[in-house]
Amino acid sequence: MSREAQFLTAIHSNGLRMTRQRQLILEVLEASQEHLDAEAIHDRVKARDPRIGLATVYRTLALLKAMGLVKEHSLGEEHGHFEMVQKVPHYHFTCIGCRQVIEFEASAVMEAVQSLIDREGVQVMDVHLSLTGYCSNCREERATNHEVKVEV
Ligand SMILES: [Zn+2]
Ligand SMILES: [Zn+2]
Repeated sequence: MSREAQFLTAIHSNGLRMTRQRQLILEVLEASQEHLDAEAIHDRVKARDPRIGLATVYRTLALLKAMGLVKEHSLGEEHGHFEMVQKVPHYHFTCIGCRQVIEFEASAVMEAVQSLIDREGVQVMDVHLSLTGYCSNCREERATNHEVKVEV
């Protein structure tokens, strides 16, 4: 099934219609390899249809999230960042120095989840693993700055 067909199926199975704003927001998220926040999504959607307001973007994102098409991550900030759900779950490391996001896979996480399900019989609806720290560049920079301070 193509991605578009998958979106349509998800939307129809929730008794909804594929509206222009839903379509546009899905297209923006599909095209982006980044983790956009609602305002950045709004900017890109607005460039194609200026009638779509920020409130609609927020509402639509909440809907797509509830349908399991979109995931929201905080990435070390107060507000959410959005991306399409991918087949293989991935996690995020956010650099608090330069804000770059590094994605990584961790099959051990899903193994731990599965063993919890087997042992406790729970139903897991959501998994969060979010790392923050310094990327290798920022780490180096901080180490260099520190050395200078020590010399002074
Ligand atoms: Zn960095
Ligand atoms: Zn991601």
